[in-house]
Amino acid sequence: MYCVKCGVELGNTEKKCPLCGTPVWNPDSAAEELYPRYRYGRDAKPKTGLMFLFTFILLIPVLLCLLIDLKLNRRIVWSGYVSLSAAVVYIMLVLPFWFRKRNPVIFVPVSFAAACGLLLYICCKSGGKWFLSFAFPVTGALCLIVTAAVALYRYVPKGWIFTTGGLTIALGGLSILIEFFLHITFGFGMFVWSLYPFAVLLLFGLLIIAIGTSPSMRAALRKKMFF
Ligand SMILES: [Zn+2]
Repeated sequence: MYCVKCGVELGNTEKKCPLCGTPVWNPDSAAEELYPRYRYGRDAKPKTGLMFLFTFILLIPVLLCLLIDLKLNRRIVWSGYVSLSAAVVYIMLVLPFWFRKRNPVIFVPVSFAAACGLLLYICCKSGGKWFLSFAFPVTGALCLIVTAAVALYRYVPKGWIFTTGGLTIALGGLSILIEFFLHITFGFGMFVWSLYPFAVLLLFGLLIIAIGTSPSMRAALRKKMFF
């Protein structure tokens, strides 16, 4: 049998085409439905009941911690960490699902901002001096890289192979940036370790881009791995 959409040869037990995802239509089976029963789409309706459940699961321990902390210390000592960590988890994992249209280009930077806020709180609360010269620039750079990659994957899906190559190289560059900020914040040595991940990731990134520019290599990869 062959896929009705893309024409790839199919195994007998295949329920949908491994290459393009089209449900397999078998002309021999009379019971086969002509149309798929479900509408395929990425914007599923939010499951409100489940969302309320998750919200309470996170909210109840936070409230308990705040109450115990206030009762014992008459001010917020340690429950602030618990509450803000729970808030970050909530913003990253639960908040997006309240929305019908979930755009990762918006939620990724929002998640990074939340994580950055938590780090700022920990830094201030513990009297550290590492937020502005380390945590902020590193999370900021990572946020820019990931958001750019997510936006490119979403809006320029055809260029995914170049996005992946660029992302790999950018993460390599980030390792040098991390070492630099460790150097100026904590006085660690410069160029002790970061050049190794940089070199490896640069090489990988260039290799991925090279595959992307060669139509024959791209086609070979597509056939072999169903990319
Ligand atoms: Zn197909």
